[in-house]
Amino acid sequence: MLIARTKKNLQEAVRVWKSGGARIGFVPTMGALHEGHISLMNLCKTRADRTIASIFVNPTQFAPHEDFDRYPRLEEQDCIKLEDAGVDMVYLPSAGEIYEDGMEPRVTPGKAAEGLESDFRPHFFGGVVNVVERLFSHVQPDIAIFGEKDYQQLEVIREMTAAHDMGIEIVGAPIIRDDHGLALSSRNAYLSPAELAIARQMNVILYEAARGTITPEAAADKLLEAGFHKIDYVASRWGRMLAAAWLGKTRLIDNVAVGTACPGS
Ligand code: AMP
Repeated sequence: MLIARTKKNLQEAVRVWKSGGARIGFVPTMGALHEGHISLMNLCKTRADRTIASIFVNPTQFAPHEDFDRYPRLEEQDCIKLEDAGVDMVYLPSAGEIYEDGMEPRVTPGKAAEGLESDFRPHFFGGVVNVVERLFSHVQPDIAIFGEKDYQQLEVIREMTAAHDMGIEIVGAPIIRDDHGLALSSRNAYLSPAELAIARQMNVILYEAARGTITPEAAADKLLEAGFHKIDYVASRWGRMLAAAWLGKTRLIDNVAVGTACPGS
């Protein structure tokens, strides 16, 4: 697996692959990789000739009070996982490499960014489109894979790519969950064993709301009863039932397709 830390090194390899007619696939991540990320790599490999992953903890999508400093950074372990997954190249840019011309956004999020996450993290999608547009311009992929775990983000990226005629196919990948249905997340590493048990209730309650057995408001109450401390939202959009809720200092998000039952129920 090639490791590129600069745009120059990245583009040298991409140029060679493209001149050989290869279709380039790209999977951006913030690292601390788990099976959810690896499933994106595997999907990318079925849809492209070359798979490029990036690991970059993007400062512009964190507010000053958020977890940028404590976000897990596990570069060495991550590179081993990517190599084992058969990724062709990992891009590990510094902040200076990504924001070489300053942090001013070159694109703004569209309508998909309105509401939900933006009501609670108003800075978030501005930071996401800012970094994804820069990563896209560095990698110049034919196809990019994003997880349905961050459903609103997937919609925001789709909209941005279409609005700017970027010519990049955006593919959504299904959510990978643990044996209890908890959506895998790098932030799960913050949870104590007691919090983990509570976190595992989130998907069960979301499935009830998704089936219409309970209203989104009742689902929010149930999350509080289960032990979540604060509910940012439970709401339906894009045919999904989506939620964001706090367990201590950790904010978890998840979503399930409307109309589906909890597997195993
Ligand atoms: P992150 O490193 O959290 O920025 O995530 C990188 C990509 O992996 C994003 O497109 C996420 O939606 C996706 N992802 C994260 N967790 C999961 C999961 N449990 N299942 C599927 N995709 C995921």
